[in-house]
Amino acid sequence: MTEATLPQIRRVAVLGAGTMGHGIAQVCAMGGYTTALYDLDLATVIAGHEKIRKNLEKGVQLGKVADATRETAIAALRTTTDLAEACEEVDLVIEAAPESMELKKRIFFDVEGHAPETATLATNTSSLSITEIATALRDPTRLLGLHFFNPVFIMKLVEVVHGEATGADHLERAITFVARIDKEPITVKDTPGFASSRLGVVLGMEAIRMVEEGVASAKDIDTAMELGYRHPMGPLRLTDLVGLDVRLGIASYLHRTLGSEAFRPPELLKRMVEEGKLGKKSGEGFYDWREG
Ligand code: NAD
Repeated sequence: MTEATLPQIRRVAVLGAGTMGHGIAQVCAMGGYTTALYDLDLATVIAGHEKIRKNLEKGVQLGKVADATRETAIAALRTTTDLAEACEEVDLVIEAAPESMELKKRIFFDVEGHAPETATLATNTSSLSITEIATALRDPTRLLGLHFFNPVFIMKLVEVVHGEATGADHLERAITFVARIDKEPITVKDTPGFASSRLGVVLGMEAIRMVEEGVASAKDIDTAMELGYRHPMGPLRLTDLVGLDVRLGIASYLHRTLGSEAFRPPELLKRMVEEGKLGKKSGEGFYDWREG
């Protein structure tokens, strides 16, 4: 099958209404796609819907979202806690559930029982292997990664990740879809860290090693990258925003899977995580965030 022979994407289901899921549902609905936002319980889907509503409202107030787009999005969006209902007649399923291989395999096994045979299935995993998740499916050609960035509404990049079995028709269809929701797709082979984390984490780990060795202060290292290399944000401030625990988890995983010493987590990072210095969310990391 080619993109032309697969039905055009009209209906989307987003599974998981947390940090990423609600944002992904928002951009799909803003693109005019009939969007079902699914989560396990009613309180979570309602909270996700409310975040979308407030986000759109704020966008309109700031002049970044047209009134008509807000109306389109609200009309296109519905919430459900019934997986069969979420997957009914969908053309694309985007899973944004917690980062667990077992969980994602189980979800896609269930989805295959409900979604039409031609539906493209996508996971928003930031690190897990697409090829391995696809082993849960009867038809592994349908699965690929759509890696959105946080906050979804603002970040333009989407990594379209193809596993060993991903079909060219589904890949092409996903790339077209990403462009239609006004994001910038890049195509990446299923490898640990994809294209973004693999490079970003190296920079982050090396910057922490430089603080450890007393090369310069965190602020000065960040300034070097911001002014010298025109990065919008230095690697240590970014680490504080992402969360030191999250970065430690990703670096450990990349060190284990790719084997390069560039990913070995520095002792300073491990110690800070043990001490509860997790960055912005805990009030302290490489910077002091207690006063905002
Ligand atoms: P989150 O914890 O905020 O949200 C996960 C949601 O999934 C929760 O609402 C939870 O109730 C729901 N859920 C649990 N089991 C489910 C199931 N069986 N079916 C459907 N929903 C279920 O997590 P998140 O930060 O939104 O991350 C989701 C995915 O996106 C993960 O794979 C993560 O690695 C990836 N990701 C996260 C970020 C980020 O910055 N947070 C960025 C890119 C990718």
